Amino acid sequence: QKAEWAKLVNESTISADGYHVELAANIGTPDDVRGVLENGGEGVGLYRTEFLYMGRNQLPTEEEQFEAYRTVLERMEGKPVVVRTLDIGGDKELPYLDLPKEMNPFLGFRALRLCLEMQDMFRTQLRALLRASMYGNLKIMFPMVATLDEFRQAKTILLEEKEKLKSAGSTISDDIEIGIMVEIPSTAVTADLFAKEVDFFSIGTNDLIQYTMAADRMNERVSYLYQPYSPAILRLVKMVIDAAHNEGKWVGMCGEMAGDEVAIPILLGLGLDEFSMSATTILQARSQISKLSRVEVSNVIEQILNMKSAQEVEELIKRKFLT
Ligand code: PEP
Ligand code: MG
Repeated sequence: QKAEWAKLVNESTISADGYHVELAANIGTPDDVRGVLENGGEGVGLYRTEFLYMGRNQLPTEEEQFEAYRTVLERMEGKPVVVRTLDIGGDKELPYLDLPKEMNPFLGFRALRLCLEMQDMFRTQLRALLRASMYGNLKIMFPMVATLDEFRQAKTILLEEKEKLKSAGSTISDDIEIGIMVEIPSTAVTADLFAKEVDFFSIGTNDLIQYTMAADRMNERVSYLYQPYSPAILRLVKMVIDAAHNEGKWVGMCGEMAGDEVAIPILLGLGLDEFSMSATTILQARSQISKLSRVEVSNVIEQILNMKSAQEVEELIKRKFLT
């Protein structure tokens, strides 16, 4: 099986009935790029920039960040690289920021919320990204967006920094797509409104599932509620994909679900454009997709969305599409 997968390293990802999707990888550091290329990744769908800020005593400088972003973009040689701005808080703490303890860190002052308030830190990251934009195919993504207003604020700040850099003589790409993670239910259910203003969505199912089911993704006691195949989650995913496509925008997924063999047929049937997963899963997913007929899955999507439980969905997928 491994040998069969290895043959797919330089292939594109096409279903048995000729439908094309993109398989990208999630990375945390520039060193991870090697694994992406070795496993035939067609892009980076999520670069988690938190690691630049973690395991140290102060914020990374603009120069340090610029070097990291440039390295990733160069090593990816023009393939798309989606960089997520700082998503700190929740399970990822930064001791040196000295933030007050919170009762519910996952519902608290984190990610974009924190960046919009600690603007010096945010602007430094955005400048580093903008300056790196000439070295590859950069897309910038904001995490934990709950309202359209937050997205607009973040985009305004980004464009301000871009103008400042340009007036100071820097060359900045004019083709940087600006998108958001869809990982909060409020954003999923109003995806039609966001779709008019963003360039793309990436569905973050790790958080979207936890917030939709109100089940902490780290808590074993409630892990039975953490159900990627639940019709509730699948309906949200469908809403997001349809909303984006209505406005001619693309949609990816960068949560664990994107590389899950039971979820993959459903996501293909729903029309997901980009699947971003751990690099080591890419070839297996490419092989799986090459044997799936998108039309055949589409024909049972209606039935799946009307099932009464995640188990029923899982059973149907296993029976019909996994052998
Ligand atoms: C997600 O929430 O699905 C996601 C990809 O982000 P993280 O796991 O970093 O929260
Ligand atoms: Mg998340």
